[in-house]
Amino acid sequence: QAKAAGRGHFQLYDPLLDRANVRDLVLGEEIHTALNEQQFVLHYQPVMNVATGLAVGFEALLRWLHPLKSWIPPNEFIDYAEKHRLIEKIDRYVLRQALQQMNTWREQTGVSPKVSVNISGRHFASPDFINTVLALLHEFKIEPNTLGIEITERAVIEKFAIAQNNIQVLQKNHVRVLLDDFGTGYSSLNYLHQLTLDVIKIDRTFVKGSRGSKQDNPIINSIVALASAMNLTVVAEGVETQDELMVLRDAGCDLCQGFYFSKALPADQAIAYFLAHQHLAD
Ligand code: C2E
Ligand code: MG
Ligand code: MG
Ligand code: MG
Repeated sequence: QAKAAGRGHFQLYDPLLDRANVRDLVLGEEIHTALNEQQFVLHYQPVMNVATGLAVGFEALLRWLHPLKSWIPPNEFIDYAEKHRLIEKIDRYVLRQALQQMNTWREQTGVSPKVSVNISGRHFASPDFINTVLALLHEFKIEPNTLGIEITERAVIEKFAIAQNNIQVLQKNHVRVLLDDFGTGYSSLNYLHQLTLDVIKIDRTFVKGSRGSKQDNPIINSIVALASAMNLTVVAEGVETQDELMVLRDAGCDLCQGFYFSKALPADQAIAYFLAHQHLAD
């Protein structure tokens, strides 16, 4: 038996490795089941105008209601899904759900909040991505400029030319492209320079704990100034306190989202929040 061979020897049987493999296999199976049995749902986090405090739209965030494990957060399966080529299926499912929901909201309430959807890098930089988006916009009769696609630097690194092209094609079709988690990658500025983006989202790490004057928050202020000089809209992520909101307001940041306003909500609660935080119609 391998175990009897003792320390320092090659082991034929590694119970730890085995357990990891089994867990991976099970996760793969479970993602298939989740897609087929609609265990994935989207929740919608309100995006707010910093200056007015009114809602402008939502970010769609994926939630997995596993029958045995209850809620599983996306960080626990998105990486796996990317590695094992399941992400395209998840992304397509998410896009369809989001656009269908936008259609339902419009029919039920007459309003059309903007919605942005997270798309994994591998899928974004694939040739059929654009067709998927355009077909769904058509199917659900959605105004393209109410849809935003959130990508991260990782999306762009591997297949830069395709990604760059897909950004431009989306924009020609009036779909907005947002750069998520801005500032956390190693060459954010390089991408900002080379890509024709519409929106950058300041990562929560820069927002967290911020308070005080402009001089106290040079990074936030610089990012907002840079974006403004490039004609980009800025969204700050993860606003939890009033101090953080004040810093963003003083910096001139356009939009924000975070627990200070609301976490991501199920669709019916999300639209109720939106309607309660809108300009009253004249
Ligand atoms: P992200 O796109 O940067 O999303 C923001 C994350 O921050 C969300 O976590 C959101 O719930 C959380 N958040 C929002 N406000 C606050 C706050 O005030 N404080 C704190 N501490 N957190 C806040 P979530 O939903 O767990 O998603 C994590 C990541 O998983 C997302 O980061 C995104 O990269 C990925 N993801 C989520 N949904 C999808 C999806 O449908 N498709 C793909 N491909 N990735 C997704
Ligand atoms: Mg996002
Ligand atoms: Mg983000
Ligand atoms: Mg993030």
